[in-house]
Amino acid sequence: MTLAIRNALIHDGAGSDPITGDVLIEGDRIVEVGIVSGGADDDIDVGGLSLAPGFIDVHTHDDFAALVHRDMAFKTRGGVTTCIVGNCGFGAAPFDAAMVMGKSLYPDMEPPVYEGYAGYLAALDEYPPGVNIGVLAGHGTIRLAAMGNERRPPTDDEMAAMHASLSEAVDAGVLGLSTGLIYEPGRYAETEELIELTAGLRGTSALYASHMRNEGEQLLEAVNEAIRIGAEAGVPVQISHHKVTGEANWGLVSQSLALIDEARERGQIVNADQYPYTAGSTVLRAVMQNQMFDNRTGAEGVVIASCISRPEWEGRSIASFSEEWDLTPMEAAQRIVDQEDGTSVVIHSMCEPDVETVLAHPSTMIGSDGIPTLDGKPHPRLFNTFARVLGHYSRDRGVLSMAEAIRRMTGYSADTFGLVDRGYVRPGAFADLVVFDPETVIDRGTFADPNQYPTGIHRVYVNGVEVVNGDTPTGALPGRALRRVDG
Ligand SMILES: [Zn+2]
Repeated sequence: MTLAIRNALIHDGAGSDPITGDVLIEGDRIVEVGIVSGGADDDIDVGGLSLAPGFIDVHTHDDFAALVHRDMAFKTRGGVTTCIVGNCGFGAAPFDAAMVMGKSLYPDMEPPVYEGYAGYLAALDEYPPGVNIGVLAGHGTIRLAAMGNERRPPTDDEMAAMHASLSEAVDAGVLGLSTGLIYEPGRYAETEELIELTAGLRGTSALYASHMRNEGEQLLEAVNEAIRIGAEAGVPVQISHHKVTGEANWGLVSQSLALIDEARERGQIVNADQYPYTAGSTVLRAVMQNQMFDNRTGAEGVVIASCISRPEWEGRSIASFSEEWDLTPMEAAQRIVDQEDGTSVVIHSMCEPDVETVLAHPSTMIGSDGIPTLDGKPHPRLFNTFARVLGHYSRDRGVLSMAEAIRRMTGYSADTFGLVDRGYVRPGAFADLVVFDPETVIDRGTFADPNQYPTGIHRVYVNGVEVVNGDTPTGALPGRALRRVDG
């Protein structure tokens, strides 16, 4: 079975100037790029639209969504063909610990039962989703399984159990280890514990990805900790959702970017990802535990995104509850969490110039960080991240060229996470492709009405199979579990 996509403005994913031409696909691979003279079983003329490698969402929390919302339309319709799951310390295994952490957000989910990371990857093989999935092991999940929610360093036995979990994950083919150092139980881990565990990745191509201990007034200390962990463990570093929050700290990203530059000059591999918005999102419990009301964000900037038992609260700020109930913001938040432990919020706490400064820096790739609570009002980044970078930040704001923006969501991401033969339009690569209109592509989801698909994404292919045609997902499930290849 061959497919020719003709008359496209082809972006190769390496940042080269686009060329007009055709792409010939045979089975799941690209076999020819340029002027394809022969016929094909299926021939599509895209009339000059742009064609790029499918977008790689390097920062997701889709571990369970991939198994329970298998079409992954909230990703594919935005041009995403691969998701990296397991970020911020929240991994898919060990299973029982992953369920404890996952069910606070998605109480009703019933994923198939599996054992370890090998079992999770095998479950994806057996129940493939619409996108490819690369997996990070989660430190939080591993620690919870080994020692519960203890606020102390692990004993030797507990550390051995954590090493055993990570080693199972590494053997199964995970792409790295993630930490979430503002969340339970990751926040109770000291730097030494993280160095020791991360060193278990040494000698493989796996990386250390971190939701750092602080993204506000102590951002620089937190970046230094991440860089130190990578240096001492001998492992590449991925700084998750690089940003600074809290008005008093705006501008600090210039210094955190300088720390990345300096580490790179010393020969260390340090990269980052970013979502293209001035608001973040997390669980309300973490906002409370990290004293964000006092130090970083007013309660009016913290808005409920998802509250399963009280959907009528979604879209309201913590300040409005604090007023209505005549409680402090912290007390109001406590009452909300007592009602629904997994309540998630959107937090308006960054500034536009910082978002653009981080995006313009060569260490930054794109990751949505969306929390797939599809029934609530999740942050619009869940559906719209990639279209927003292309339409708003590249085309309209000129922060980086279209070719470079595409590289930061394709080839660069594939190279960093070790995704072999993905992220590029070239002969031999897997046919993960997106056809889009560079003149109209734009995000549509808003904070009030987030679950809108972006405009301008015309066709999406995963492993040579069409998953989106216009406004219609095809229902195909051609995604694969992507296992690490060392060397
Ligand atoms: Zn995070």
